Amino acid sequence: MAQPILVTVDGAVLDPDVPILHADDLAAVRGDGIFETLLVRDGRARVVDLHLQRLSRSAKALDLPAPDEEKWADAIATGARVWAETNGNAEGLMRLVYSRGRESAPVDAAPPRDRDETGLTREANAATEYLTVGPVAERAAKVRENGVKVITAPRGYSVDLAAVAPWQLLGAKTLSYATNMAALRYAAEQGADDVIYTSSEGYVLESPRSTVIVVEGKRLITPPPEIGILSGTTQQALFAQADKDGWETEVHALRPADLICAESVWLVSSITLATRVIELNGYSMTTPARPQDFSALVDRAIG
Ligand SMILES: *Cc1c(COP(=O)(O)O)cnc(C)c1O
Repeated sequence: MAQPILVTVDGAVLDPDVPILHADDLAAVRGDGIFETLLVRDGRARVVDLHLQRLSRSAKALDLPAPDEEKWADAIATGARVWAETNGNAEGLMRLVYSRGRESAPVDAAPPRDRDETGLTREANAATEYLTVGPVAERAAKVRENGVKVITAPRGYSVDLAAVAPWQLLGAKTLSYATNMAALRYAAEQGADDVIYTSSEGYVLESPRSTVIVVEGKRLITPPPEIGILSGTTQQALFAQADKDGWETEVHALRPADLICAESVWLVSSITLATRVIELNGYSMTTPARPQDFSALVDRAIG
């Protein structure tokens, strides 16, 4: 049995079974916060820089204090090290959580106290910042190997929304994921494994947990983040590696018909890495000649 790990942003390694959230933490009552999910492989968290950059961008979008990237980087290294010491080579799922903190200041808040026995700094309305490492779900290995059946589903808004309504936080990885989880249950009810959202104009957006990549020969295509999707760290690392390895990369809008006609379509994310779409809206996608080339490119990209 994998032993989960809990580390505060200050680097304190805590007993993972001891609660660290207050009942009125804004993460719990409003989903008011942000997160990141990183893969721990061979004792090392992957693509740390891009994850920390996105954590900072997400914080900015939510008017949260800028996260201390150096502190986070140290906490990440500690989490990965302790995970490997406890669980050997097993892949780990590391989740960074950064919430706005408590809704109300504790009655005895002032003056702010020093670290208490849990190693946490207790202050009124201080942000809540910690990370956990746990086992990667069995599903990840399965979908990397077998691919996924996907349906498209309307997200219900235009590609313009991100620009005209910044409060929708479309480019931020926020803790408010209830609709994403609902979309995945909807897919499961239809016998599908995942969803690709479409805009009200019918453009391809993203999956609830991953970025869409089309492969045509040695050309990779992904939709632009400006249309209201999250900029994926895996996609960014992938395109950087692809440029080095002589693949072409393009960022432009796609329609579902472009996916159906594509040589192959992939969902990429930090944890599941490269997952091929084997069926889209009930249509069987043809198997590309060398799917392993793309998977290997993603593996190289994450270092
Ligand atoms: C996390 C996430 C992704 C994938 O991002 P990675 O950084 O590659 O893991 C894509 N879309 C959404 C909505 C996400 O939450």
